[in-house]
Amino acid sequence: MELREKYIAAATRYDNADKMYRRCGKSGVLLPKVSLGFWHNFGANDAFEHCRAIAHCAFDNGITHFDLANNYGPPYGSAEETFGRMMDLDFRPHRDELFIATKAGYDMWPGPYGNWGSRKYLMASLDQSLRRMHLDYVDLFYSHRYDPETPLEETLQALVDIVRSGKALYVGISRWPLDALKTAADYLAARDVPLLIYQGRLNMLDRAPQEEGILDFCHERGIGFISFSPLAQGLLTDRYLNGIPEGSRMTQGRFLKKDVLTPELLERLKAYNAEAQAQGKTLAEWALAWILLQKGITSVLVGASSPEQLKKNLRVIEN
Ligand code: NDP
Repeated sequence: MELREKYIAAATRYDNADKMYRRCGKSGVLLPKVSLGFWHNFGANDAFEHCRAIAHCAFDNGITHFDLANNYGPPYGSAEETFGRMMDLDFRPHRDELFIATKAGYDMWPGPYGNWGSRKYLMASLDQSLRRMHLDYVDLFYSHRYDPETPLEETLQALVDIVRSGKALYVGISRWPLDALKTAADYLAARDVPLLIYQGRLNMLDRAPQEEGILDFCHERGIGFISFSPLAQGLLTDRYLNGIPEGSRMTQGRFLKKDVLTPELLERLKAYNAEAQAQGKTLAEWALAWILLQKGITSVLVGASSPEQLKKNLRVIEN
């Protein structure tokens, strides 16, 4: 048993409920307009108490939806382990107030069964995720990416069977192209496991899901849409307006490379920032508000390396 300060969730956490939650497509589920992702900042190399502080800040402010995946870390699996520790220490009494998602689809373990979209991989991966997170079930399980080699029916039937087994309550897909999304929506609906949500990258710098018709399709079919990397990994904040700060994601050089920040992009970000300021908003708040104004959006799935960042992003709820 770890001796740590006991977490008492803020009594005020649902005070803003009218503004905070949106229905996820045509489903019974309400999700917070701002959800929290565990891709970065929750791995084994991140100080556990700091991870805890971010998660507490989220829950205390009504963020009931946490988004994980099997390989978030580093190392792979460690973000789920961090969450599992928090489950034991802090969140067990609140399990039914939380909507926990995980995914499988990218590289996870060596050999032919630890990647892509086979039934073998998805089933085994979810079992591993549940063990790491100390959960009996997840609220939402995603196919993390489209697999052009595996028959879609195999992946989709695995999702159906996962729901039937009680290991996930709902299923979603992420980064599937429109045609495959249409197949998924039909296949799952025909088996009474409606597709709850699509996860894609939509932000002011990348509007592909809108341009490709994915957002329209989700809206028409009553499927929710959650936007990952809504701040373009920090570009759509004040983080890089005056150089590249030490400790920022860009200095890690893994997923956000320095060469993205061209003079043209910096100029565009500065212009956005000026527009945001003219409206009395931060760039981050303005960029999140833009997404939430688009048709068919359920939630923006932010990352945060500190509770302060998260609190700043939550100002968008007041818009
Ligand atoms: P964001 O676009 O929100 O970027 C988060 C980063 O931006 C933070 O780590 C921080 O960077 C910076 N930041 C956030 N808020 C502020 C602020 N107010 N002021 C200044 N800087 C700020 O999202 P992520 O790219 O982290 O993605 C969010 C989630 O989406 C992931 O955790 C994951 O759950 C999901 N995701 C899903 C994918 C998929 O394939 N389905 C792919 C990618 C993400 P810094 O660390 O420099 O402080």
